[in-house]
Amino acid sequence: MKDLYEQGSKKDDILNALRILPFHPAMKRAVTSLQDRSKNTTFLCLSNSNEVYINTILEKHGLTSLFSQIITNPAHWNPSSPDHLIIGRRLPATEPPHGCTVGCLANMCKGDELDAYLAANGGKESYDKIVYVGDGGNDFCPLLRMREGDLICCRKGFELDERIKNEGKACGLKVDVKLWEQAWQIDE
Ligand SMILES: [Zn+2]
Repeated sequence: MKDLYEQGSKKDDILNALRILPFHPAMKRAVTSLQDRSKNTTFLCLSNSNEVYINTILEKHGLTSLFSQIITNPAHWNPSSPDHLIIGRRLPATEPPHGCTVGCLANMCKGDELDAYLAANGGKESYDKIVYVGDGGNDFCPLLRMREGDLICCRKGFELDERIKNEGKACGLKVDVKLWEQAWQIDE
């Protein structure tokens, strides 16, 4: 963000770029139709992006209220320089490190975040099934916290796919893996 700011990008340029980011209608339909069909489904947004990006995109697509919680890095516009977005860390540098050994970045262990969310919201066992949609290498850690019968919808050919193939067995991955390439496959 500092780079964009130094290149002269304005707050509105950045927000508009986020608003026009392609967001596949089938992906939107997948989550909204699931919400309509199953009122008991809880949606959690777990992202190593930041609050401003995620909130801007979800707002643009009318999906803000879908999620029971959005877990991401804090961000705010610098009050003394309004076009400068300051992105913080979900786990501040002043806190003890998370100690994750499967390669999460220092600012966030997604596995710890998933566990903490579930523990604070009825406990993992109160959820019949956890379905995780992801593609990044840092999505591997939370999958190790999931149970047999849970499902990962993994985007084919991305880093998560590689990690599941290369490390899944050795790490004792128990979840079912479904690969997807097109958003309509998630809708199905
Ligand atoms: Zn981790």
